[in-house]
Amino acid sequence: MSGSPRWTERQHALLEALGVRGWWPAVPESTAPPAPAAVATAPMAPAVSDVSPPAALAPKPAPVSTPAAPPLSPAAPVAPVAPAKESVAMAPLAVDAEGLVEAIHACRACGLCEGRQRAVPGVGAMPAGWMVVGEAPGEQEDRQGEPFVGPAGQLLDAMLAAMDLHRAAPEPARQVFIANTVKCRPPRNRNPEPAEMDACRPFLLRQIELVNPKLVLLFGRIAAQSLLGTDEALGKLRGRVHRLADGRPAIVTYHPSYLLRQPQDKLKAWEDLCLAMDTFEQLP
Ligand code: SF4
Repeated sequence: MSGSPRWTERQHALLEALGVRGWWPAVPESTAPPAPAAVATAPMAPAVSDVSPPAALAPKPAPVSTPAAPPLSPAAPVAPVAPAKESVAMAPLAVDAEGLVEAIHACRACGLCEGRQRAVPGVGAMPAGWMVVGEAPGEQEDRQGEPFVGPAGQLLDAMLAAMDLHRAAPEPARQVFIANTVKCRPPRNRNPEPAEMDACRPFLLRQIELVNPKLVLLFGRIAAQSLLGTDEALGKLRGRVHRLADGRPAIVTYHPSYLLRQPQDKLKAWEDLCLAMDTFEQLP
C-alpha cells in the first residue's frame, strides 16, 4: 500500500463515507492526528519484507523457546514475525466444515457448555482471504448463535467496510470469516480461562485450516494469547506482523468492545488495520 495513491484515496473515501467519526476519534482541529490517508502511507505500516518495525511500535518479540511448526503452505516468509509457541501448534480436528459446526454445537469439552444457550461457531465465507478472531460470545451472540452482533458487531462491520472487507463479498480477497476464540459464552461475560481456551483451540485451528485465510486479524488479548502462545500485553503485540504456528501472518489489534469503551484508541486500531492491509497486499 505504501506509495499507492489508489489505496489511500479509496480508504479515505470509505472512511468519509462511513461518516468517519463513526469509529474515528473526534478530536479538536488543533490537535487532530494525521488523516486516515496519511496514516495509511506512514512508516508505521512497514513493508512485509521490512524486518525492522518502526521504533515506536516495535517492542521486542517474546522469547520463544521452541521453533514454530513449519508453514502448511509454501508461502513466502513474512517478517517481522513472532512465531507462536509450540503449545498452540496442536493438531486441529479432521472434520469438514459441516462436521465442524456439528461438533461445536455438540461439544461439552469444557464447563462453558453448561451456561450456553447456543454455541457460536462463526460466520462468513469459507475459504476467505481474511479471518477475524475475537474473544468469546456475549449475551446477544449466545442468544442468536452469531459472533459480533450488537454494538461491537456494528463497529467491527464498520472497521471491515473501511478496509473493503465483507462477510459475503464476491471477490475472495475481500471476503472475511469471523469467529471467536471460544465458542460458548463465559458466565457474566468474564474472560475465558486458559483451560477453556485450550479445550476450544482445536475447533479454532480447524476453522483456520478450512478458511485458509492469507492473513488473520486477532481482535483483543484473548485471541492473541490463544493463537500466539504469549502473555504479553496487547499494547506490546500491536504494530508488527506475527506468525501463527502454521506460518500464517497475523496482526493484533484492539477488540471492538474495548474501542466502544475507549474510543480514543480507535486511531491506533486504524493504524493496525493499515498495517494489515499493507501486509496482505504484499503476500503472494
Ligand atoms: Fe466446547 Fe469450546 Fe464450548 Fe468449551 S467453549 S464447550 S470447548 S465448544
